[in-house]
Amino acid sequence: MASTALQHVCAAPIARAIRSRAILATSSVASARAADAGPHVLLGMSEPDLQKLALDFGQQKYRGKQLHHLLYKAKVKDIESLSQLPQAFRDSLREMGWKVGRSPVHHAVTATDGTIKILIKLEDNRLVETVGIPVEDDQGSLRLTACVSSQVGCPLRCSFCATGKGGYSRNLRSHEIVEQVLALEELFKHRVTNVVFMGMGEPMLNLNAVLEAHRCLNKDIQIGQRMITISTVGVPNTIKKLASHKLQSTLAVSLHAPNQKLRETIVPSAKSYPLDALMEDCRDYFRETGRRVSFEYTLLAGINDSTDHASELAQLLHEWGGGYHVNLIPFNPIDGSEYRRPYKKAVLAFSAALESRRITVSVRQTRGLDASAACGQLRNEFQKSPLLELPASEPQFSPV
Ligand code: SF4
Repeated sequence: MASTALQHVCAAPIARAIRSRAILATSSVASARAADAGPHVLLGMSEPDLQKLALDFGQQKYRGKQLHHLLYKAKVKDIESLSQLPQAFRDSLREMGWKVGRSPVHHAVTATDGTIKILIKLEDNRLVETVGIPVEDDQGSLRLTACVSSQVGCPLRCSFCATGKGGYSRNLRSHEIVEQVLALEELFKHRVTNVVFMGMGEPMLNLNAVLEAHRCLNKDIQIGQRMITISTVGVPNTIKKLASHKLQSTLAVSLHAPNQKLRETIVPSAKSYPLDALMEDCRDYFRETGRRVSFEYTLLAGINDSTDHASELAQLLHEWGGGYHVNLIPFNPIDGSEYRRPYKKAVLAFSAALESRRITVSVRQTRGLDASAACGQLRNEFQKSPLLELPASEPQFSPV
């Protein structure tokens, strides 16, 4: 980071360079951001940090408040468009290598039910997928859920998941998570009401950035903590860390199997995190936060969808405290997958078997995009096309 800042300083006239160095040297915010990898980015910064930044640049504190409004309400995308700020401030920001941190929407696909999935083209030309799912409630108000990615690709290689099969590129930075939500708000012309970290990647492998993004989504974009869900297949030592933040958000753990042996065949990373240890961490999470964990269970025909599996799952949940909620996700086939989608009859029988054992259950509905309510499945579906091979152009909208 230091070298990036230096490059920008060297490119500026000498007088400005000296002033810039002085600013950088005294700038608490700039140096804090410098600890983060990559360019200086405004998106993701809190209002107090933006106020400090304004002061660091010799501006009055209220400029930070203006910046906050421009970033999160006006959704400004580049430094030049921060037109309410003095030109000199904008010039200094640019010269010091600051960016807003917004990336273009590269491709968008709209389903008949209104679900939109988009690819955002990041600064390094990598593409990341985000899904917006609009649902109208009984009173006619719109709930807009953003299913966001936390990594480009995923290293965990769950056997049913196309993202896992496609390999892993890198962690997303916090602003690259936040911008997914802003991009959806722009497309839908509606505020995002719910966020689920269920897109590409394993959020717990990028927990610091996920927590920073969570803070920004909650405090700056004003999405209630209870409207945010963080999902994981389980990464050792991370659930405790998340619990220590005492967030009022839901933790969704992807189980996919009721016992260790079967789970290891579906989720290879489970080998390093025995089911008992995972369940113990989930129980402790509830004790620490008062928030019950919800469990995701992808139903794979003939693999994990029998009523015996359901009864074993109920037993497991009761053993570790009961009262849990299970979200059943009938598998949506992807190219090259050995798995099949279960018949409706099997899904209903599995669900009934859980309910008869006092486990609350929901079955994720299939809608216009074939899996519009299930971000993981949507991601798999879309990744039939290799993400990096899409032509670079203006956003393209096409019907599914
Ligand atoms: S299901 Fe989630 S954790 Fe597993 S490979 Fe896919 S993205 Fe990674």
